Amino acid sequence: MRITKEEIAYDLSYLGEDEDLWRQIVEAIERLPEEVRDFALDRCRFLSVARTTHGMVLPGRIGTHEVTNEPTWLVLLSEAIPAEDVHGAIAHEIAHAWLGHDRLAFPPDDCEIQAANLTMEWGFSGVGADAEHCHV
Ligand SMILES: [Zn+2]
Repeated sequence: MRITKEEIAYDLSYLGEDEDLWRQIVEAIERLPEEVRDFALDRCRFLSVARTTHGMVLPGRIGTHEVTNEPTWLVLLSEAIPAEDVHGAIAHEIAHAWLGHDRLAFPPDDCEIQAANLTMEWGFSGVGADAEHCHV
């Protein structure tokens, strides 16, 4: 089903204050396969601290899903991602969440390669979609 940028913007949970980054997240989500797009809107919360501050605190109205007990994924983004890589970098982080890579537990050794390859499969480019880059 086709979804408009306005609908994505309405459903997106972005906890931050950077309008450029907010718009880029909307654009990246628009380019995802439909089921991943729904996952990103339903199960992910996107966060960033503002360029002008060193940190911020947000009320934690987040957590596990009431019905499935699945985690809500917190996608923490830098506002300093180079412009040419930003969609791919956002999609790369969504790929980690989609694949269930839990940084606080034991993600697979090749999780960076898996995320980069999936990001490329979804049609993104840049470092987020470059498994070679992730070898380092
Ligand atoms: Zn990664």
